[in-house]
Amino acid sequence: MKDSPHFDPAPRLGDEVRKTTCYMCACRCGIDVHMKGEEIAYIEGNRDHPINKGVLCAKGAAGIMQHTSAARLRAPLKRVGERGEGKFQEITWDEALTTVADRLSHIRATDPKKLAFFTGRDQSQSFTGFWAQQFGTPNYAAHGGFCSVNMAAAGIYTIGGAFWEFMSPDWENAQLFLLFGTAEDHDSNPIKLGLAKLKERGAKVIAVNPIRTGYNAIADEWVGITPGTDGLFVLSLIHCLLRSGKVDLDYLARWTNAGCLVDGDPKSPTHGLLLKDDRGTPLVLDRATRKPRPWDAAGVKPDLSGRYRRAGATHRSVFLHIADRYLSEDYAPERIGPKCGIDPAQIHRIAADLAHTAFDQSWQHKQDWTDMRGQRHTHVTARPVAMHAMRGISAHSNGFQTARAIHFLQLLLGSIDVPGGSRFKPPYPKPAHAHPRPHAGCKPGQPLDGPHLGFPQGPEDLLVEADGTPKRLDKAFSWENPLSIHGLMHMVISNAYAGDPYEIDTLFLYMANMAWNSTMNTSQVMGMLSDKDEDGNHVIPFIVCADAYSSEIVAYADIVLPDTTYLERHDCISLLDRPISEPDHAADAIRWPVVAPDRDVRPFQTVLIDLANRMGLPGFVADGQPLYADYADYMANHERRPGVGPLAGWRIAETGLTDGRGQPNGGQIDQYIKHGGFKTYEVPQAARYMKTFNTAWWDWSQQMGFTDAPAPAPFALWSEPLRRFQMAAEDGGPCPEPYRARMRLTHDPLPIWYAPLEDGHADPYEYPYYALTQRPAAMYHSWGGQNVWLRQIHGRNPLYLPTKLWEKCKFQDGDWARVASVHGEITVPVAHMAALNENTVWTWNAVGKRRGAWALSPKAPEATKGFLLNHIIHELHPEKGDGLRWSNSDPITGQAAWFDCRVKVEKVKAPKVSHPAIVRQDSPVGQGPAIVARHTGAAADPAPSLLDRLKARFL
Ligand code: SF4
Repeated sequence: MKDSPHFDPAPRLGDEVRKTTCYMCACRCGIDVHMKGEEIAYIEGNRDHPINKGVLCAKGAAGIMQHTSAARLRAPLKRVGERGEGKFQEITWDEALTTVADRLSHIRATDPKKLAFFTGRDQSQSFTGFWAQQFGTPNYAAHGGFCSVNMAAAGIYTIGGAFWEFMSPDWENAQLFLLFGTAEDHDSNPIKLGLAKLKERGAKVIAVNPIRTGYNAIADEWVGITPGTDGLFVLSLIHCLLRSGKVDLDYLARWTNAGCLVDGDPKSPTHGLLLKDDRGTPLVLDRATRKPRPWDAAGVKPDLSGRYRRAGATHRSVFLHIADRYLSEDYAPERIGPKCGIDPAQIHRIAADLAHTAFDQSWQHKQDWTDMRGQRHTHVTARPVAMHAMRGISAHSNGFQTARAIHFLQLLLGSIDVPGGSRFKPPYPKPAHAHPRPHAGCKPGQPLDGPHLGFPQGPEDLLVEADGTPKRLDKAFSWENPLSIHGLMHMVISNAYAGDPYEIDTLFLYMANMAWNSTMNTSQVMGMLSDKDEDGNHVIPFIVCADAYSSEIVAYADIVLPDTTYLERHDCISLLDRPISEPDHAADAIRWPVVAPDRDVRPFQTVLIDLANRMGLPGFVADGQPLYADYADYMANHERRPGVGPLAGWRIAETGLTDGRGQPNGGQIDQYIKHGGFKTYEVPQAARYMKTFNTAWWDWSQQMGFTDAPAPAPFALWSEPLRRFQMAAEDGGPCPEPYRARMRLTHDPLPIWYAPLEDGHADPYEYPYYALTQRPAAMYHSWGGQNVWLRQIHGRNPLYLPTKLWEKCKFQDGDWARVASVHGEITVPVAHMAALNENTVWTWNAVGKRRGAWALSPKAPEATKGFLLNHIIHELHPEKGDGLRWSNSDPITGQAAWFDCRVKVEKVKAPKVSHPAIVRQDSPVGQGPAIVARHTGAAADPAPSLLDRLKARFL
């Protein structure tokens, strides 16, 4: 044995573990960063963390390569070539910040709306929004408008929560799980952990998605639906459940507005809205007294089939309206199935599964709680059917109503916030009326008159001038998209270029690759960013980009503010922002600099504070003195409301440390670091279910600072905000003529389905296929495509074709195709995929790269064979001759309708590179090494010798 080679099965990974939060996707898992000296040796999942419980995905593990990426920017840059060329000169921070602060100060003093500040995958929107509000521009939002705002808006307007961040399937108790339109997307590790739990218990998973990849591949049943028809499918399920009487009548009567009476008087100014008492509370017909009573009155028993006659008009319950609509044979599976590409028998079977699981497998969960009517309960009725939906639903122009239909289905089954169903995650629920309204009141030298984004309740909350002109550059909260609660980032460049509704001076982007995968119509958007007017001035006068990497958008910036990587800065995963809570606990977390930057870069949030200080922005400067030295200082000391700050843990009370409301604590961040980088706050037992109506929930919510007052509201099967907009489009209403017909149709108070809007101008016979993208499990947008480990998983992205098309065109492996939409064409490599809806083609998102970007070789497969579908998707619909530029968006929320895209496909001779081959950009950071060798404790060697490579491999 003396001569046996030494093998250490458990080598020490490092000298020290630093616990922080991953930022390789939106999931925000806890990570243990193993250090050797001051170098990162290894990253693994934090076993104690509430989100991932030690699980780490490929992206998370590859964070070490994101941190050491050759594409990292190294210093502030000033453009010296033409926009888009990528030619820069390094400058000092002082020059960069002085340049930007001087320009912004002038804008603020003269016309603040001339700054458009938009952030991409920003996890600090509570902070960046506050900065923009103090600056005074109305033109601020993050990327939600081209991500999944349909899910968020439909959820919050219907139930006061939404899939992903604000709700969770009850993984422990669900027996049936329906997953709609979900690829990897945002809830990555929690869904994987949840699916494992379901599978262990033998629960059934049904995946509704045209493409069977990822989670869909392990589903027990796959519904390979035609894109854009999910709403029809769900409404057909609703039809089946209503016909068979399998709906939870007690839940509907007590907790939804199904029993509320709808004003049935066509002459009334509130026709189609709910009848209300003098306090504005909706009325139901009480079964005991046969009189209208407030829905929340003690002892009231709403009559779901209530009819109430007053002054010659009959007012009927919402439930009767529901029955009228969805019992129609128009929604029978036999009619719907062929439109969705689904066998009608499958719809019948799934409806039967839903009914059987919700009602025959139900139980009474013991739980004492008191509702807002003062009634005490000893149990909550379990309905073990959970659902989740994401971008496949959201990224259509009918996505809002489809997402609403899914919540509608959940409500009919009584499965919201009960055991086995979908449960709210603190600080949600928050009904739409409890959120702020949007604001755009803007005056020189002053902050905006309120938060930018909010939840309109009717036309009076729109951000439009008296003549209907939008007040915001992206036209959010206008007649075109009234409920655009996340803004329309995809319209910013196009509108700024067109000067519609007005011209701007400075476009300030953070973490948003708007010259590439985060924009529709990419080739033309690149032109908009670089175009000059007849005087030789850029049409968009000044562009500032803050980014950590040499991405495609950086090439268009006049000034580049280089950000750190996520391992080099403070960040705040705040309950004021996007929580990482689970149903039984609230939680927040931080990032902190586990390593110091080795380049002349600064954390963007601290840079914003520096700019605020230079400009003397209120909220950042008082009596001429800066309030915060940097972002860490802000995280610990900022108070949004008295006692409520970015972090809820370890605040100061009279009696010592406290959680929730409390005074700022200068040592707060140290406490987070000491305790693993996060803090959880257990929801009291009595507050865990039926939170919207649960007095214990509202008490705890106020104590924690989530709300200042209880805001119970019946779940909105009938949506009054939608009806108010629909009324505005009826005879005599204020809606401008061009929008009237569309608004009357789409803003229906009950869920409806209409065909994706692109079907109206792309002939389905000429363009028979929908073209989609899916996010791979191993990558998060364009960031991952340059990561030397992750590139080995997805170095190229063929267009996957369904069997029928593959065989019809006689494609073979290695073939290429020309793919054309009404907007343009691309030429790309193809591959066959059998588990695919026959009307669908698809590819992985954001693998393709522009040559010269991301420090990749211009010959890299991402730059030669990789491609973007974005080139054939347009941010505008074709001209209608009415003088308007209609955005390719959901007409309710402004959600970018990426997945409406229709194409035709033809086989072509293989070219050398995919088309369009965008001209190469220079790289301000050079090109990464051909071989990256690294072993624990050693820095990456850009040009390893053979000896070093052998050592790296064998030692
Ligand atoms: S899912 Fe993966 S990439 Fe996303 S935060 Fe978690 S470990 Fe990081």
